[in-house]
Amino acid sequence: MALPNKPMGELPAIDNPEIVEHDVDVLIVGGGMAACGAAFEIKKWAGDDLKITLVDKASMERSGAVAQGLSAINTYIGENPIEDYVKMVRNDLMGVVREDLIYDCGRHVDESVKLFEEWGLPVWKKDADGENLDGSKPAPTLREGGTPVRTGKWQIMINGESYKCIVAEPAKTALGEDNCLERIFIVKMLLDKNKANQVAGAVGFSTRENKVHVFRCRAALVACGGAVNIFRPRSTGEGKGRAWYPVWNAGSTYTMCGQVGATMTMMENRFTPARFKDGYGPVGAWFLLFKAKVANGLGDFYAMGDAAKEELQKFMPYGASAVTPTCLRNHLMVREFIEGRGPIYMATDVALNAFLDERREAGMDEKSLKKFWKHLESEAWEDFLDMSVGQAGLWAGANIEPEKVGSEIMPTEPYLLGSHSGCCGIWTSGPDEDWVPSVDGSRAHQYKWGYNRMTTVDGLFTAGDGVGASGHKFSSGAHAEGRIVAKQLVKFCRDNDFTPELKQSAQELADEIYAPVKLYNQHVGASTAANVNPNYCKPAGIMMRLMKATDEYGAGVATYYMTSGKLLGICMDLLQLLREDAEKMAAGDLHELMRAWENYHRIWCVEMHIRHIQFREESRYPGFYYRSDFPNVDDENWKCFVNSTFNPETQEWLCEKVECLNIVETDPWL
Ligand code: AMP
Repeated sequence: MALPNKPMGELPAIDNPEIVEHDVDVLIVGGGMAACGAAFEIKKWAGDDLKITLVDKASMERSGAVAQGLSAINTYIGENPIEDYVKMVRNDLMGVVREDLIYDCGRHVDESVKLFEEWGLPVWKKDADGENLDGSKPAPTLREGGTPVRTGKWQIMINGESYKCIVAEPAKTALGEDNCLERIFIVKMLLDKNKANQVAGAVGFSTRENKVHVFRCRAALVACGGAVNIFRPRSTGEGKGRAWYPVWNAGSTYTMCGQVGATMTMMENRFTPARFKDGYGPVGAWFLLFKAKVANGLGDFYAMGDAAKEELQKFMPYGASAVTPTCLRNHLMVREFIEGRGPIYMATDVALNAFLDERREAGMDEKSLKKFWKHLESEAWEDFLDMSVGQAGLWAGANIEPEKVGSEIMPTEPYLLGSHSGCCGIWTSGPDEDWVPSVDGSRAHQYKWGYNRMTTVDGLFTAGDGVGASGHKFSSGAHAEGRIVAKQLVKFCRDNDFTPELKQSAQELADEIYAPVKLYNQHVGASTAANVNPNYCKPAGIMMRLMKATDEYGAGVATYYMTSGKLLGICMDLLQLLREDAEKMAAGDLHELMRAWENYHRIWCVEMHIRHIQFREESRYPGFYYRSDFPNVDDENWKCFVNSTFNPETQEWLCEKVECLNIVETDPWL
């Protein structure tokens, strides 16, 4: 149930918050697409005998990566073989992916998209002549056999400004409003006192009231998205706070699961999206729908010629692929910048005029051309208005007429995620199917251990950005994965009857969570400015320190994504010092308390990222990051997963190579 918006200003935090304890069977942590998928589906399997509660740090109507809306659904299988989807993901992510998870997502994803449309999401359709009807004109639904407007083999267009609201409503309705607790930030997952390696609860706090919430549960889904603001952003000063990915995704999924011992996979992977400069506007529709090309500062379409092909060959030992992997598209762009041929332009002018010329040549009269142009222009703006309003504002403010001038695009700062064109995350069990490989060894080496999408910790599941080594799920795939997990959560509860017991008392947990508040209240009088104090640091400063370390040493924009063993070692040392100093983080209000705990989550997940980059001695994702000491893709030694496990008992890390098995057999670069 949503708490009302705040009155004026932030709520001061007090030393002794109220403690609220909850006993549930299933706890869903998160409120984004994956969590909404789980919430929608779970009651179908659970009936009324299981108590299910969802906790979102924000408000489900506008939380998660889809909060602002989207102009496309990037995973809709439709008429395509699911195997082709697996091949596409494998190719884009440079060969190292969990094909079982991808196939499984592929076979469920379309049902989610059909549901979205039934719930009210306008999906663009084509008429019988192949003309685009947009989302506004009557047309058969996808379930009725309507033909969507495809921009690529996997992508379809929507009018998606209200996408998240449309998906949240049935999720809430299915679970019941009273079972959806909003504005509660979960700080950590808790293991059971008696059963080893079994999740038993979680603890968090309200961002609207001075209350700590302690949950006991038998199974949990953690789906809190990826990580943003872990590297110094390109947006500084007046644009600060603008990012490509939602700013509230603080790496909580990775940190909270990693801390209780869930094995991580491919945490070295990151996504460094190329976006419209300064506004972070999306490029997909421009490349795919408008067929735009990128030009360098000299006006050359640098990504198209023989030189580009030759460059790509260096990183694709099996030869060129039909679609260049996203990281390698970035690589070509980064090279232009480094060699002084920037800036890079999305040639919007060339693309839009080509459409007009095509119609003109086909004999369209001037009046119809004008109408056609108006339509095209509104589609171009809508692409931004649906999902990146700031970019539309920037275009308007800068008097950009996209048909007259191109717009600069630029690779952004890196993000950690597992559902767009990145694949870091948590190692999970695949579906219990014969075609999923059976592998000996610990769970960190296996592909299935009974419950689909369960992490290596019993009862702890993840979905969406949380599931590693299976990117390109996007919004629809994340929702479908949530639905998959829902059924498994119920199965786990039915199979495993136990009463969860926590290791710490509720008061001990509350004291730990409110420690930054106590520190603040104890020392705030020591100086005249609350932000400058000899006894504590504030979350804003800690965050900047984190960003400086990763930017300069961990392959951020400062070095054009270049790092080395030496630089990574320095980064790890800085993170260690930062961790020590972060224990002195102080919070004067509830918002700052959230910022403090987000920082703890960010620091932890960045450490995993750097640790993995250190371990993988090659440059698997040129354009996302480079190791100067191992500049090549080294398939012989590194066409494998890197999995890491933190032992909560000994506090030790184990990083290891894990075999990457192909299920869909073919040329790995197709
Ligand atoms: P984006 O707008 O970058 O988030 O991308 C939306 C969709 O378009 C995703 O499925 C991307 O993989 C795809 N995409 C973006 N740019 C390109 C490109 N240049 N070539 C092929 N696919 C692309």
